[in-house]
Amino acid sequence: MGRRKRPLPLFENVEIIDAGSDGKAVARVDDRVVFVPFAAPGDVVDVQVYKKRRSYFEAKVVKTHKKSEYRVSPECSHFGLCGGCKWQHLSYEAQLQFKQKQVKDALERIAKVPYDEFLPIIGGEHQYYYRNKLEFTFSNRRWLTDYDPSKEEGGPEDTNGLGFHLPGMFDKILDIDHCYLQRDPSNAIRLVVKKYAIENGISFYNVRKWEGLLRNIIIRTSRNGNLMVIIVFREETEKNEGLLAFLAERFPEITSLMYVINGKKNDTINDLEVKLFQGDPFIVEEMIPPGESENPLKFKIGPTSFYQTNPEQAQKLYEAAYDFAGFKGDELVYDLYTGAGTIASFVAPSVKKVIGVEYVEEAVKDAQENMRMNDIANVEFYWGDLAKVLDEEFVRQHGRPDVIITDPPRAGMHEKVVRQILQAESEKIVYVSCNPATQARDIALLHEKYDLLKAQPVDMFPQTHHVENVALLKLRKEQA
Ligand code: SAH
Repeated sequence: MGRRKRPLPLFENVEIIDAGSDGKAVARVDDRVVFVPFAAPGDVVDVQVYKKRRSYFEAKVVKTHKKSEYRVSPECSHFGLCGGCKWQHLSYEAQLQFKQKQVKDALERIAKVPYDEFLPIIGGEHQYYYRNKLEFTFSNRRWLTDYDPSKEEGGPEDTNGLGFHLPGMFDKILDIDHCYLQRDPSNAIRLVVKKYAIENGISFYNVRKWEGLLRNIIIRTSRNGNLMVIIVFREETEKNEGLLAFLAERFPEITSLMYVINGKKNDTINDLEVKLFQGDPFIVEEMIPPGESENPLKFKIGPTSFYQTNPEQAQKLYEAAYDFAGFKGDELVYDLYTGAGTIASFVAPSVKKVIGVEYVEEAVKDAQENMRMNDIANVEFYWGDLAKVLDEEFVRQHGRPDVIITDPPRAGMHEKVVRQILQAESEKIVYVSCNPATQARDIALLHEKYDLLKAQPVDMFPQTHHVENVALLKLRKEQA
């Protein structure tokens, strides 16, 4: 006989004490941490545990006794299911306050190093419709939120959906009615494509059986009105052109209409050829360089190139990094994890030379092309994994940097990269991070030779728990 499982506990009258660093609010019961999605600090609730781990529980709210004063009513009808904007139920001021706390907590609990100045977080002027890129997924078995099996035998007839993955689920797609993240005509395009496909019998993908024609749609916009749409089909068929032609005619504002044939099992298109159907094979984004308002920097963005997804806030993030660096004009700067070289081109006119390093080959090509387009001649790019590329020989060859700007992905820097930075002994390090926890871990290592002077959080992703932070580190006197 199998052992009977003990039911998971229900905790009553629990006060939510923090907004948490990965989008789940936090409570404490008998010294055990309980993560509660979609709760708000200040709520008093009953929670049912659904996951039990050695050091924490995950639980969902089953009854609310008191509502937090930070609560507002979420704009979006998909809130609660969609993984996109988990903090919509918090007022924007509260979101900023909790993001700032996340950065401070990481510095105090993980980095454990003193700092001189913690600047108040820079919030976004636009708290909705700020993203320049969204990817939606087609599914012939959308997640049925409204399906009541007792009423309707077999469920609704049409189960085609186009939207986002439910958090952490590769095969569950939430059909999206209106998304508040990207400006129009993003919603209109998505809805029109879905309608056309259903009316014309074009099949939606089935991720378990690898069947169906339509897989994804990617929509990219730029601040000057460029609009790129990429449709991902599973195979070449005579229906593809019909859909593309219809889309081009229905939305003349599309400046770049592209498509991909993806017969692979995974969704990535980075290793596939993106073909042009109509318009330009890129969009152009602009950024205002420091001290200039007349001549914006221009960046060509191809279908698979990385560009910061909130361009308005990216501008503020780069300005913060630039101010922290405090250039005099004769510096050699390393821009590590340079992507398409946006930070490099932002600072290039104010320094002697910039060396950028990046491991996506396409991005390096974009970076070089962007420098040509902007007539910037004092930047060189190198391609490769920083953990391998950045060594003593590299520094000997290119010169000891005066300032290192580093902007790693969420995982932070590889320890080897941190070691090499310590070896290089640049006078300053400007560390731009999208993950305060890994940044704090790296700052603790850098503390061997560097003092943390300032921190400047920036909110790039309103309605989510994500936060960026710029830190300024200075080589200690005795080292110099
Ligand atoms: N600074 C850029 C890009 C930041 S995103 C900007 O502001 O737009 C981080 C970048 O690091 C990505 O372009 C990613 O391709 C690159 N990257 C990630 N791991 C890397 C590694 N090990 N070596 C070099 N580059 C890496």
